[in-house]
Amino acid sequence: MNLFRFAPILILTAGTALAQAPAVSHADANKPEPPAAIKSFDLSAIDKTADPCTDFYQYACGNWVKTNAIPSDQVRWARSFSLLRERNRYLLFEELDAAAKAPKSTLQKQYGDMFASCMDTATVEKKGFAPIKPAWATIAKLSDVKQLPALLSELENQGVPDGFFGFGVGQDDKDSSKQIAQLFQGGLSLPDRDYYIVDTKRFTAIRAQYIEHLKKMFALAGDTPEQAAKEAAAVMEIETAMAKSSMSRTDMRSPENRYHIYAVADLQKLTPVFDWSIFFKAIGIGHFDTLNVATPNFFKDLNGLLQSEPVDAWKSYLRWHALHGQARDLSKAFFDENFAFFSKTLSGQQEPEARWKQCSSLVDRTLGEAVGQDWVKENFPPAAKDSMVKLVAALEKSLGDDIRTLPWMTDATKKAAEEKLNMFRNKIGYPEKWRDYSSIKVDRTDLVGNMHHASVYERNYDFAKLGKPVDEKEWGMSPPTVNAYYNPSFNDINFPAGILQPPFFDFKIDPAVNFGGIGVVIGHEMTHGFDDEGSKFDGHGNLREWQTDADRKAFTERTGCIADEYSGFEASPAHDGLPAMNLKGELTLGENTADNGGLRIAYAALLDTLAAENKSVTEQIDGYTLAQRYFIGFAQIWCGNQTDQIARMLATTDPHSPGKWRVNGSVQNFEEFGKAFGCKQGTPMYPAKSCRVW
Ligand SMILES: [Zn+2]
Repeated sequence: MNLFRFAPILILTAGTALAQAPAVSHADANKPEPPAAIKSFDLSAIDKTADPCTDFYQYACGNWVKTNAIPSDQVRWARSFSLLRERNRYLLFEELDAAAKAPKSTLQKQYGDMFASCMDTATVEKKGFAPIKPAWATIAKLSDVKQLPALLSELENQGVPDGFFGFGVGQDDKDSSKQIAQLFQGGLSLPDRDYYIVDTKRFTAIRAQYIEHLKKMFALAGDTPEQAAKEAAAVMEIETAMAKSSMSRTDMRSPENRYHIYAVADLQKLTPVFDWSIFFKAIGIGHFDTLNVATPNFFKDLNGLLQSEPVDAWKSYLRWHALHGQARDLSKAFFDENFAFFSKTLSGQQEPEARWKQCSSLVDRTLGEAVGQDWVKENFPPAAKDSMVKLVAALEKSLGDDIRTLPWMTDATKKAAEEKLNMFRNKIGYPEKWRDYSSIKVDRTDLVGNMHHASVYERNYDFAKLGKPVDEKEWGMSPPTVNAYYNPSFNDINFPAGILQPPFFDFKIDPAVNFGGIGVVIGHEMTHGFDDEGSKFDGHGNLREWQTDADRKAFTERTGCIADEYSGFEASPAHDGLPAMNLKGELTLGENTADNGGLRIAYAALLDTLAAENKSVTEQIDGYTLAQRYFIGFAQIWCGNQTDQIARMLATTDPHSPGKWRVNGSVQNFEEFGKAFGCKQGTPMYPAKSCRVW
């Protein structure tokens, strides 16, 4: 799966720095408690003192935001996403706990053992640094950079993280029926290249703290203070050089920027020092003559770096990545230091999540479709799937109507857009065919070993796709995940069972609230097929222009309006000598376009549904018209709090806007909102001029 093409509705960050999987608590007296049910429409969340026409987010969420502080083990706390994620994880935990104690099937034995190996902190503690020693012994053999291809493949064959670059198999952007090898930049430990190369007060401070963290980790692994300082400096120097060679996240969003087909021989010319034939042979991938080098400059620069840095620096770099990549699965001293920097300093998380939460997430990440099979049996009845199929059909019709009536598009392009829409594939709930994890060896007393086996399995699963037909039934998220995504190469929309629950999707609530919840999520994913990135792919998932020149120009003017608008929204206010930080309009453009389109087409689908029942949006329930309930239901999906550290990190790294702007940005571009709340034109949420793409 090519992660740069994957468009989920949000980035999951709860309890975790983005650069790092979730942290694991070692001091764990927390007894799990079943989370309460989540209301789909929450009158008590509303701040009636606020004016919906001035700040709708404050109106719909103000009371919730005021009374729901971020729990100390989280960095973001959102009324819908976080609460549902906690609930789903608790249900997952119940299964894992039972399977660990008394498995009833081979599958349960496997995921129960995985869970048990994570919960067994006594064994983890006793092992200390020992699980890293074999990798460090392998690295110690390096005496010349020419040996790096063999060494990297050896580490990867053991399942040890090594940094450097990303390599895998994914669909060819220009021929989605082909699975080809793909090479991406990599190598950074901090969340983005800006952390290394931008000289703001905040990034400068974080760099100094990162060096201290590197020193402490090397010292914990046995370095003298002098050695630790030297190793830390080497890691920082190499990662900084790699950051300078990296393509920015915004540039990476354009598919044409990351599509460069190279013959293997030409890749070799790009990096003469690194013998790719040794590497490709040793990692056990099938033969190929060409591949996509997504970021050629990175590899060109890497060649220079390989020559300029001494071999000892590369050893330090590799030692660091082996240690850092597995730190959360080691004993308390390593875990705590890793948490202190990557979770507390970078994201503002005050304490680690309880061990049971972390271990449940770990099994979901490694054996998601194993434990997910049992999870959906309990939590996703066939009736839920049937109603979801109907909702998706209603949204598809509404997007079709929207395309046909768009004020700015020529008929030829409208026809092409409709063709693409008609080719959408929908995946709802869970895969038709489950992945077979039986080859992953799981030992109840070997957490790090289990993680190695899981990582080798994932890699081999990926490599096995090379040259094979594309499996259209494949999923990129586990069933309990509270998220959804669009994949332009598949041209498919995917809704895991985890998000098809209240408050997103609720049998017991009126359709206005359901269309504002899951309806907008569906519309959001569909609109991704037509955002600045998705619109460059046709219905077959191929990178190919299907708009006329004039339409593309009009489209770009319209997306430019959205980009400028969101660049004006503040992500974090000025404080403590730090300047205010705004959103990056270009980085968040695809998501904002999807939010705007989703809100519009889900509303049209609601009108259709009500019309079929001879109802109107002016009818009232609990003092609100159905139109108002739709918009409040939508806004309340995004009620949330987050730490300032994570707000600033996400403004740099996340293609999604924060909840407040997902709400206020979308409603101020949709005139039906102003009408529903009787706003005067010219108020902030009902401006005279607004942006519209779809
Ligand atoms: Zn999205």
